[in-house]
Amino acid sequence: MRSVLMWAAVAMAAVLVNVAVVAVAQEAGKTEPQAVAQASPQGPPTVTVTKEMRQHDAWRNALYFGGAVYGFLVLLAVLALGISRRLRDLARSITPHRFLSAMVFVALLTVVTTVLSLPLDVLSGYVVPHRFDLSDQSLGSWLWDQAKGLFLNILLAAPILALALEGIRRRRRWWLALWLGSIPITLFLVLIGPVVLDPVFNTFEPLKDEELKTEILNLASRAGIAGGRLWQVDKSKQTKEMNAYVNGLGPTKRIVLWDTIIAKLSRDQLLFVMAHEMGHYVRHHVWKLLGFLMGLLLVVFWLGQRLAEWATRRFGAAWGFDAPHDPAALPLLLLLVSVFLFFLSPVTAGFSRILEHEADVFALELTHLNDAGARAFVKLAEDSKVLPDPHPFIRFWRYTHPTLKERIQFCTTYRPWEQGLPNRVWQGAPGR
Ligand SMILES: [Zn+2]
Repeated sequence: MRSVLMWAAVAMAAVLVNVAVVAVAQEAGKTEPQAVAQASPQGPPTVTVTKEMRQHDAWRNALYFGGAVYGFLVLLAVLALGISRRLRDLARSITPHRFLSAMVFVALLTVVTTVLSLPLDVLSGYVVPHRFDLSDQSLGSWLWDQAKGLFLNILLAAPILALALEGIRRRRRWWLALWLGSIPITLFLVLIGPVVLDPVFNTFEPLKDEELKTEILNLASRAGIAGGRLWQVDKSKQTKEMNAYVNGLGPTKRIVLWDTIIAKLSRDQLLFVMAHEMGHYVRHHVWKLLGFLMGLLLVVFWLGQRLAEWATRRFGAAWGFDAPHDPAALPLLLLLVSVFLFFLSPVTAGFSRILEHEADVFALELTHLNDAGARAFVKLAEDSKVLPDPHPFIRFWRYTHPTLKERIQFCTTYRPWEQGLPNRVWQGAPGR
């Protein structure tokens, strides 16, 4: 819910820092073994769908859609109940300086919306993961993470949103000013994410397992990636789920493995996952995703100005402001941006699925570890209790990765090298 609060640039960056590319993190279910599936001593890679998996899937979807609507209602309530107007007056009584009082207002608003969103955050971040045995983090430790998150949000959102209000005040076509301003801010946040923001919550260190490291480094050097870019993080503090991802830009660009995935996957499965991440790295997916999202933001800001000006004329008097650059109007701007981004979810998820599939193609072409790849996805589905074959609407709306059923099927069938056909993505020599 916190993300709703941050300006589009911040929200986008946060999405990127985390989503940029969640290696293997999605769904589970029944996958009919394909005819082509290679026989192996353990039998064909197949997910056993459990009742718990279906319940978990239902919870996650309900919390996703319910959480979005709840977030919109919180912002609407802050406007309609006069909370925003009162917070602005309070901020002005603390300091008359326009920019500083806007920053104070953002801090107060962040605290208020975080508190209002807490019930749902507790449910999705603490209760549900514990109910499905996907976390053993203590409530105290979870709350401490939330407190640190709130502090970081205020630290970042206060100056950024105060600047945005200045832009709105000074420019007639402020949608363009906001969009231009959001570019360097987003790049900056993605750049500092891995080295400044992420370490607030977890400890990052170079890969420790020397044997694994040597194998991954061999793979990385074939893919053209320098070894210092491989990190591990103590995510077992917060979750039992598995993941790996690529984030950062330029000097901070890196591949990160959660310690949970290192503990749970076999050597070959890990090499496949690493090759998938290397695909993101080598194919510049962070840049592609950023470019795509900036294109979307252009549309979001343009529409945002039109609707914000209309809503100010229509409701401004009742809500206590007469111009969109009044701090009291900020929840309205955040509401518009978050509603637009929510309805653009199928577009962003669809684009992300294309990149994720390309990374799977890259991984198979680089390693030929078809069976290990399929088994890694089976393990992911069963271990993280994710349905492999979700409802088509759910896949369309929010799946940033192909479904696990699709990924398992692809791993068991994609072998162009056996028919002497060229690779699609990886042009180097195959091997391990
Ligand atoms: Zn990925």
